[in-house]
Amino acid sequence: MSKVRLFDCVAQYSGMRREMQAAIRRVLNSGNLILGDEVRSFEEEFAEYLGAKGQCVGVASGTDALIVCMMALGISRGDEVITVANTAVPTVSAVRSVGATPVFCDVDERTCLMDLDMVKGLVTPRTRAVIPVHLFGNVVDVKGLRSVLGGRRISIIEDCAQAHGAEIGGRKAGTLGDASAFSFYPTKNLGAYGDGGMCWSPDRDLAREMRKIRMYGFDGRHYCEREGINSRLDEIQAAVLRVKLKRLDEWVERRRRLAAVYGGVLLPEIGRAEPGPRVRHAYHLYVIKTGIRDKLRERLDAAGIGTAIHYPFPIHLMKGYEFLGYAKGMLPKTERLAGLILSLPMYPELEDGRAEYVGGKINEMLGDAG
Ligand SMILES: *Cc1c(COP(=O)(O)O)cnc(C)c1O
Repeated sequence: MSKVRLFDCVAQYSGMRREMQAAIRRVLNSGNLILGDEVRSFEEEFAEYLGAKGQCVGVASGTDALIVCMMALGISRGDEVITVANTAVPTVSAVRSVGATPVFCDVDERTCLMDLDMVKGLVTPRTRAVIPVHLFGNVVDVKGLRSVLGGRRISIIEDCAQAHGAEIGGRKAGTLGDASAFSFYPTKNLGAYGDGGMCWSPDRDLAREMRKIRMYGFDGRHYCEREGINSRLDEIQAAVLRVKLKRLDEWVERRRRLAAVYGGVLLPEIGRAEPGPRVRHAYHLYVIKTGIRDKLRERLDAAGIGTAIHYPFPIHLMKGYEFLGYAKGMLPKTERLAGLILSLPMYPELEDGRAEYVGGKINEMLGDAG
């Protein structure tokens, strides 16, 4: 069997070459490169895809989408934002970018998601927001989070960078909080050919602020009513994403199918990151848990099978975030998971047979090791 990659964006491109090239050509011929019809149309189409009443605002990356959400909510220095330490670093760097302080919540070992039972104990008078991270394409119970927070004026900003197409209780991830942030980094379930991001909010006023913030704080007259930044989704990426959005449902279904293949093949004793209750997982990543993770990973690599660890270092234990004052042992479940998790090859173009092959190899290797 030839190499099995963790991810392959060229395989995806070959299935839509002509349509993609035509879309990019359309932008080049229009001469309109920044905040034109493509971005406007994509914002509308993505809002429609999410299927809830609300507005989308295209920005330059997923990190910026989080920053713009927090700026629009007025979160800044001295404010605390509760999130998790087993996430992509940008979740946390975004909090720091607005000057706020991240407060880490430990996770549920089964789902690898924020442990809602622990959130209440972390709330202080300075808490302004919670950022639940829908890690791997799994979905945090945002309604449950809301009830934990009770009547407090604490905003919920969903980090949906890994959760395009995921659902909970029949609603799309990203439509359950006060604002949400999506990334279109190339490897995500909906990926651009470069960087891109999207904010969503059900609140028109908040969306209007987001629109100003992404363009220097301008109100449409080159006049700043507030401070902003420069974070725009560009027309070429929006055109690319419009072509891909039409296929997103089909791709997410393929991911679910591959997850079912892995689920069927892998020996029952192999642990996995489990979907939460009422979740339709979007399988951005298919993650297993094993005590011999590093050895298994080495052997898979030698067999030509690509894997990755999302993420090897919990954020609170990295040097760059030492100043937050956390130490080993403070988030025991997060720390334990970091030593067990392994992400298997997952992308819509991966054939079932190859996922079966990967699962079979893992069974063999674990059998040998045990
Ligand atoms: C990718 C990712 C981000 C950041 O997105 P960028 O587009 O790379 O800035 C934020 N949060 C999570 C959970 C991610 O996976």
